[in-house]
Amino acid sequence: MVNCGTTKYDFLSSSIRVSAERKTQRKSKHKFPISKKTDEFRNRFFPYASIWDWNDWKWQLRNRIKDLQALSRIIQLSNDEKTAVEKHTGPLPVGITPYYASLLSETDCTQPLRRTHIPVNGEYINTPGESDDPLGEDNDTPVPGLVHRYPDRVLFLTTGFCSTYCRYCTRSRMVGEPGGEYSFSTSQWERAIQYIEVHPEIRDCLLSGGDPLTIGDEKLQWLLQRLRKIPHLEFIRIGTKVPVVLPQRITLKFTKILKKYQPWLSIHFTCPDELTSEVEEACARLADAGIPLGSQTVLLKGINDDINIIKPLMHGLLKIRVKPYYLYQCDPISGSSHFRTSVEKGIEIIEGLRGHTTGYAVPQFVIDLPGGGGKIPLLPNYVVGREGDDLLLKNFEGGIYRYPDPGGKIGC
Ligand code: SF4
Repeated sequence: MVNCGTTKYDFLSSSIRVSAERKTQRKSKHKFPISKKTDEFRNRFFPYASIWDWNDWKWQLRNRIKDLQALSRIIQLSNDEKTAVEKHTGPLPVGITPYYASLLSETDCTQPLRRTHIPVNGEYINTPGESDDPLGEDNDTPVPGLVHRYPDRVLFLTTGFCSTYCRYCTRSRMVGEPGGEYSFSTSQWERAIQYIEVHPEIRDCLLSGGDPLTIGDEKLQWLLQRLRKIPHLEFIRIGTKVPVVLPQRITLKFTKILKKYQPWLSIHFTCPDELTSEVEEACARLADAGIPLGSQTVLLKGINDDINIIKPLMHGLLKIRVKPYYLYQCDPISGSSHFRTSVEKGIEIIEGLRGHTTGYAVPQFVIDLPGGGGKIPLLPNYVVGREGDDLLLKNFEGGIYRYPDPGGKIGC
């Protein structure tokens, strides 16, 4: 049973508590908050790590949980998890930062965050319609690491490395590497930059991967600076899960770099359990630096495909100044059937949000069409018919209203 009930996410009181905690911790010498639960975890499983170590994002990367032995030390694995981890080879390895591991349930294998980061044998079952590259990105790659599908936008794959690997990753074919981690090359970046330079129609570049925020300050600054020198490139976005799985990465020095180059950030959230005081601090630093923040959430079966989970998540995001942006139908990646929920469920969730809460809290529900068709927004059907020149529309409470629309064709 999924453990995300409405009452658990009483954000009014938790927000006040978290904000008070954040203020106290900001005054402390450690500069970055550490929540009680996470600190208990640190003391229990990493007693040799000081708070300075713990809050050092490079320490977090060096001490990631990557194999069966390390996982078994902190979690009582089910047989399904144990055998799935044992047999795993190839890309999308196990990798979890100690910070994020502190949020996983030690005993409950059905806990949403645990299900999304520890493999189960469902990963090895391929069902019809699934593919390693469901979005057909490899067919739209003019130079290595750059996807150019839409005329005015490119997807720049900066790295194959993530601090924490999600089991439903769309790029599971290429994140991590068999027997080790993927290594990117700056010569590959150069070719991608040169491609953008000679294509004046490109006005928007999304830096993704892997997770671009796992790249060191100097390298990322170099890349942002090179991109900002391209006159026709108006808009730079970064897709990342780092503020959620490695919030310590958002150092004050790093926010100064971002402030200088002003990219927008699309942050990957899954569940309200991720909205900790650490994540609140990371998002506050980014927002204070003037970085526009949006969220991306993949709808996952038995994990967050419930209005009582999505609504508190969207409300929690607004509180930390992140605009809910996309709610994705899970891509049909090989071995993802245990994660995929019905399209109706997504529409039902949007219907449960629109009109029932602040408009800013309603993301767009989209399917990224298999084979490279691009994103399609899906909406509940609010048009119920037409009577003469009147369009008949259904509101959020099911009431029918007329709108004068002489000569219109919609609703016929
Ligand atoms: S953080 Fe993003 S790129 Fe990395 S594994 Fe998760 S979904 Fe994939």
